[in-house]
Amino acid sequence: MQAAILSIGDELALGERLNTNSQWLAEALAARSIITVEHRTVADDRQLIAEAITQMAQRINVLIITGGLGPTADDLTRHALADVMTPGEELVLDETERARLDDWFAKRDRRMPEANLIQAMRPHTMHCLSNPHGTAPGLAGRLDDTQIFALPGPPREMHPMFQDHVLPELEQRDGHDVLRAITVHEYGLGESDAAERIATLMERGRQPQVGTTASASVVTARIRAFGAVDSIELLLRADAAAVERAWQPFAFGRGDVTLAQALLGELISRGRTIATAESCTGGWVGKNFVDLPGSSAAYLGGWVTYSNEMKRDCLGVPESWLESYGAVSAEVARAMAQGALERAASDLAVSISGIAGPDGGTPEKPVGLVYIGIAQRTSDAAPTARAHRFEFHGDRTAIRDRAGKAAMQLARFALLGIEGERLLWETDLEVPA
Ligand code: AMP
Ligand code: MG
Repeated sequence: MQAAILSIGDELALGERLNTNSQWLAEALAARSIITVEHRTVADDRQLIAEAITQMAQRINVLIITGGLGPTADDLTRHALADVMTPGEELVLDETERARLDDWFAKRDRRMPEANLIQAMRPHTMHCLSNPHGTAPGLAGRLDDTQIFALPGPPREMHPMFQDHVLPELEQRDGHDVLRAITVHEYGLGESDAAERIATLMERGRQPQVGTTASASVVTARIRAFGAVDSIELLLRADAAAVERAWQPFAFGRGDVTLAQALLGELISRGRTIATAESCTGGWVGKNFVDLPGSSAAYLGGWVTYSNEMKRDCLGVPESWLESYGAVSAEVARAMAQGALERAASDLAVSISGIAGPDGGTPEKPVGLVYIGIAQRTSDAAPTARAHRFEFHGDRTAIRDRAGKAAMQLARFALLGIEGERLLWETDLEVPA
């Protein structure tokens, strides 16, 4: 079943007020397996509202309208509905709602203003949905095969009316089909590369439907299917596995799993430990571990070594390297990771040293240049340490966030024995002059 949401009000169209109703409704509908395919916002203009209702109703099974049901001259939803549902005919007075209105004002020791009577009026083909939290009743009716609901604008009146009246009416019509979704996340593969790898899964009109979104540099595939529970669960799981295969080794988890959780889980299941040595991220990676309950099983601790002296004194980075290569260099990142590994006696250590900006960049070492070191202890040989060079884009916050995530993804690769894969923004270690 498909829905559309029409929000009405000058204050919304002009951007004076955030349209929270449409988001709330789309989410509430999706939870009941009804997919919203269109959102529109229209000013308090009778003709525009009527046109929107006519156009939107043609394409979908359920149209939900909010706003414009008040008693004032700018509340025109009721009239626009009449123009569409019962053209040329007068609104009729709903006696039940009139009695409710009288009662509402009587309870508050007020006489009902003349203007409020309009709220008990409806197109004769629609019925009213009573509103225990305000004076405006909602309206419900059918235009050809489309169910139309008009609800009051104030969220505290709209939410209960949707729950108490709209959902029960929708459920009468609804079968037992459900909408289910699985999400798969990856870090380190650009969104267009990620989409290209799953192009056949993303073809429109296919069931399940697969789409990608990117948020804070994590790319997510959303796999959705609609139908009988038993049959779609299998389809969804098959597609989620196909996306994970296509995104190897960048895919790190499904659903609510974050990169930090995925890495921590891998460490714990292998009985391995990790330590951190952070400069420009200032403890970001450590914080992300410690945010997770149970992290002490794998995260031993770390150093925030922002100055050269701290890098030297806490992690044993040779003074001469800091002088000759600079703090932001492959050599220093490696030494930081090695120092953390030895001092924490961990199995794995990550280090981050870079220029987060906005100042401090030079032509050779621009803002966004970050070196990440990975040191690892394997049972049979001496510890190894390597460095990776990145050129991140964005502001200070974005650079630090991306660097922190890259460090966690590289630690995950090291743990899983993955070699030769390059993350987005990673460059050759030696950049030709
Ligand atoms: P109305 O039903 O048009 O009289 O709307 C009354 C009030 O509800 C408005 O002044 C807004 O404060 C609020 N409102 C209306 N529509 C929305 C919406 N889509 N999202 C959030 N608040 C809304
Ligand atoms: Mg309004």
